[in-house]
Amino acid sequence: MKITFYGAAGGVTGTSYYCETPQARILVDCGMFQGGRKAEAANRKAPPVDYQTLDAIVLTHAHLDHCGRLPLAARAGYRGPVFGTPATIDLSALVLRDSLKVQTGDLEKLNRMRARTGKPALEADFDEKDVENAIRLMKPIPYHESFEVAPGMSVIVDEAGHILGSGSLKVTVSEGGTTRSVIFSGDLGARGLPIVRDPEPFREADMVIMESTYGDRDHKPLQETINEAIGIIGNAIRLKGKILVPAFAIGRTQDLIYYLQQAFRQGGLPRIPIYIDSPMAIQATKIYLGHPELFDEEMKEFIASGEMERDKDYLRPTVTAEESRRLNEVEGPCIIIAGSGMCNAGRILHHLRHNLWRNDTSVLIVGYQADGTLGRSLVEGAPSVRIFGERIAVRAQIHKLGGFSAHAGQSDLLNWFNALAPARPRVVLTHGEDKAREALANILRHRYGLPPYLPQFGDTVEV
Ligand SMILES: [Zn+2]
Repeated sequence: MKITFYGAAGGVTGTSYYCETPQARILVDCGMFQGGRKAEAANRKAPPVDYQTLDAIVLTHAHLDHCGRLPLAARAGYRGPVFGTPATIDLSALVLRDSLKVQTGDLEKLNRMRARTGKPALEADFDEKDVENAIRLMKPIPYHESFEVAPGMSVIVDEAGHILGSGSLKVTVSEGGTTRSVIFSGDLGARGLPIVRDPEPFREADMVIMESTYGDRDHKPLQETINEAIGIIGNAIRLKGKILVPAFAIGRTQDLIYYLQQAFRQGGLPRIPIYIDSPMAIQATKIYLGHPELFDEEMKEFIASGEMERDKDYLRPTVTAEESRRLNEVEGPCIIIAGSGMCNAGRILHHLRHNLWRNDTSVLIVGYQADGTLGRSLVEGAPSVRIFGERIAVRAQIHKLGGFSAHAGQSDLLNWFNALAPARPRVVLTHGEDKAREALANILRHRYGLPPYLPQFGDTVEV
């Protein structure tokens, strides 16, 4: 089998790997690139394969950088199956429809600007039909069972512990009497993440293609971060103002709600309302609750105790724009979780505009803030920021918490690999900046005597 890397090779986005044998051709993931102009250009086209002869696409999980180019594949004529676990399919549909909304909004803005300078309007890279076609192609595959995805090619999905439905894939190929297997780690979760189960390591393979996002470092211990968050929120509650939390709709929002509910339950925090001011996060939370079979023991116990149900009154989803606007009149203390995670779009902007200038407001930044985003300006201590063309003074308390991550740190990655090491597979490191994957490569070389290969875009390996 040959594997060609059409993304996440020297970066962390745009994951897509093309696997081919004389009989079968599949793509593992079909993700979007993120960040900057180069990414925008790369996102205009589906991965460069022949979609008339492609047998299947298999998804590891529903994040946009793993499924976001599916509508482009559909537009390029792909009509075969898109396999994923049932939760991955539910979440991918949500992610793709949201991505269309974002794309349409951005394009309208851009075309208004182009019109004013006399330039012709640009066309969308994909439309609603492409998105719905891609969603229609999705077919569920179970965890832990060998499933034939293409002639002579089968896949087993194990838990990757990253977000709901996430999987690591073992692809097994039988060619001319020999059998070869390749493991795709997918994005691996940190051990001990709430709600989802911990990653399950495989034990046997000829090759492993492994993510290396945090290959060069460990996260701060999760419990330490949780305690820090409780301390910050406790102080903010005493100010009686609003606590604004910009957060990504899938994964991070559900984790935060879980931590808050546990803090309420254990008496670490007084019960205050939590507004989930994001239609996408509300839908994602519903999808999470629809898959209790994927929960870890703690989450199952939490549900069985009946306490989650009892605390439901404190959780207030705000769906419509009108409901969201009404939060301006709500008295604190309360927590408002809203997108986007980096404060560069979405409802969080309205809350920041209404509350940043007040000194009883607290802003809790829990995710990565890319250069040039409003979130980054806040973290860097800007005395004022511009929102919707208006200059707003920053008198709110801004807190940054670094320890919440849905990705395995270096020790988690090594732990996962440890189970596979005795089989001495060939190792390929992807999905990491070069600094991170080189650091992980060094450890794997020294500890196991296995020198990993670090592919660039378009490189091919053979197993
Ligand atoms: Zn991911």
